[in-house]
Amino acid sequence: MSNAAEKPVENHVFEADVARLLHLMVHSVYSDKDVFLRELISNAADACEKLRYEAISAPELLADDPTPRITLTLNADSNTLIVEDNGIGMSRDDMVEALGTIARSGTRAFMERVEAAKAGEGAQLIGQFGVGFYSAFMVADKVDVVSRHAGSAHAWLWSSDGKGSYTVSEADLTEAPARGTRITLHLMDDAKSYTSKWSVQKIVKDQSGHVPVPIDLIEKPGEEAERIGDGTALWTKSRSEITKEEYADFYRGVSGQYDEPALTVHFRAEGRHEYTGLAFVPESKPIDMFDPSAKGRMKLYVKRVFITDDAELLPRYLRFVRGLVDTSDLPLNVSREMIQESPILAAIRKGLTSRVLSAIEKLQDSDKDAFAKLWDAFGAVLKEGIYDDFERREQLIALSASAPRRLTRPPVRSPTTSRT
Ligand code: ADP
Ligand code: MG
Repeated sequence: MSNAAEKPVENHVFEADVARLLHLMVHSVYSDKDVFLRELISNAADACEKLRYEAISAPELLADDPTPRITLTLNADSNTLIVEDNGIGMSRDDMVEALGTIARSGTRAFMERVEAAKAGEGAQLIGQFGVGFYSAFMVADKVDVVSRHAGSAHAWLWSSDGKGSYTVSEADLTEAPARGTRITLHLMDDAKSYTSKWSVQKIVKDQSGHVPVPIDLIEKPGEEAERIGDGTALWTKSRSEITKEEYADFYRGVSGQYDEPALTVHFRAEGRHEYTGLAFVPESKPIDMFDPSAKGRMKLYVKRVFITDDAELLPRYLRFVRGLVDTSDLPLNVSREMIQESPILAAIRKGLTSRVLSAIEKLQDSDKDAFAKLWDAFGAVLKEGIYDDFERREQLIALSASAPRRLTRPPVRSPTTSRT
């Protein structure tokens, strides 16, 4: 039982943009509510990867629980779903910052587009945008988050009904995870299916089958956990072992977009530098493509440990590409600052750029329609490279010259259809 006298409850009002996003989400016509689970699992996996990274220089953070894990606990009696991780966790200030504001670039532009769009289009837009933590309120009328930052002697409880405000109070250590975050969703009446093992298992398999952290499912509190996601990193498998659907699922996880990849580039570079690249060209334009503050969406891993998504792994004119590079050539404790100056990174950037460009060139030969679509979405950005990348100028000019011309006038109607 909590003790209100000892543990004061702070009341906070959501930042205006959050309130707006929540309103949009709850009232949107967007029907595919399942995506909330992908968002929460993706955050849990990020938290585990952050811990893995921090623990390189501070191994004591792992204490006696070194194996990252995400646990889903269903409870049909209380109509709740719990998503728990033993990752980095959040301090009180982290919570207020992360769960009360929106740091994500492009969110405001996204909301403006959804509000301006007609109903159908709005739904599609939401589908293309990773909606994040707040998507929990599409299925829950109350969300409790208890979190304990790795190494901290305090745990905090964040709680909200998603209607404009939230509370924060210190949590009892006995009721908090030893490390990491537990998110309890008090499900709406029409969201009861998320307490069914069968449905949840299927959603996880479809949406999150390739997150690099194992996922366990507990069907009822007190029962044994069953492993439903093995946490093997997809990119470490060979191409012949991976199906098109698996690539597409992985793409959606890594990009936060819900479309299909238009192009998948998966390769292992050997020789002077060893690394694996898995890069996707999306089918539709990422929402933040023209946002100058948007960070790259190429993740850098060292020996399967996530390091940063801030390393410039590709030139700016390929900023629509999503994916990752995993290398064993950089030391695990490489600082984020050192990365930018590393000659190894420069070699990787060069190799990756070549692979992506030649995949685009190949598409141009092998599938004219697919290439035309790709060019329609990203041609303008690719052309920036003609001025920015001296070394590949000729290559980019050739690509651009062979691209289909856009129609500048409306097509002339044929005489049979123009008669009224
Ligand atoms: P994004 O993941 O794109 O940053 P989200 O809305 O999904 O946006 O999450 C917002 C932030 O909340 C995260 O960046 C992270 O700082 C924090 N957060 C959410 N879930 C967790 C978690 N399980 N563990 C630690 N931090 C979390
Ligand atoms: Mg997220």
